[in-house]
Amino acid sequence: MSLRKDCFTCAQELRGTALPPRERIAADDHWRVAHATGTALPGWLVLVPRRHVTAVWELTDAEAESLGSWQVRLSRALREVVGCPKTYVAQFAEAEGYAHVHFHVVPRDRELPEELRGPGVFGQLNRPAEEWVPDDRADLLAESLGLALSLDGLSAELLGADDPEGWEGPAGRDGSGRG
Ligand SMILES: [Zn+2]
Repeated sequence: MSLRKDCFTCAQELRGTALPPRERIAADDHWRVAHATGTALPGWLVLVPRRHVTAVWELTDAEAESLGSWQVRLSRALREVVGCPKTYVAQFAEAEGYAHVHFHVVPRDRELPEELRGPGVFGQLNRPAEEWVPDDRADLLAESLGLALSLDGLSAELLGADDPEGWEGPAGRDGSGRG
C-alpha cells in the first residue's frame, strides 16, 4: 500500500486504530470514510482510497467496484441519521496538501438556504475554526452513521459488527475469509 507522509490523508491512514471515530466511520480494504475537517456542516463525509491516488483514473478496478456502493450506502446512512432529503457527491482534490482523491458525500439539509445549494455548499467547507462541527459531535455522528451502515448490511461484514471496537484496517481483518 503506497502512502505518502506529506499527504494529510495518507498521514491519517498511517495512524490506523489511533484515529478517532470521526476519522474511521467505516472502511473496507479499499476505502475509508471520515467526517470532513474544517466544515460547519454536520455529517459532511469524505470517502478516501486507502492508498495515495491523486486522480480518479488511477483507481484500480477493485477500488472502482465498491465506489458506487459506498456512495449510495453513505447517502442512505446520512438520510437516516441526519434526515437530509438528498446528498451531494463531488470529487476535486485540488487544495494544497489534499491532492489525495476524496469523494465528498454531503448531506443537503431541508433548511439549507437556496444560495448554499449545489456547488455553493462548498462555502460550508474551510470555515474559521470556531464554526467547525465540534469533534465530540462528529464522533457521535460517526457512531450513528456506523450503526446505520451496519444495519444497511454493509459494515456488518466489512467492519466486523461483533467487535465494533476492533477496527484494525485491512491488515487486521478477522481472517474468516469473507471478502
Ligand atoms: Zn495520500
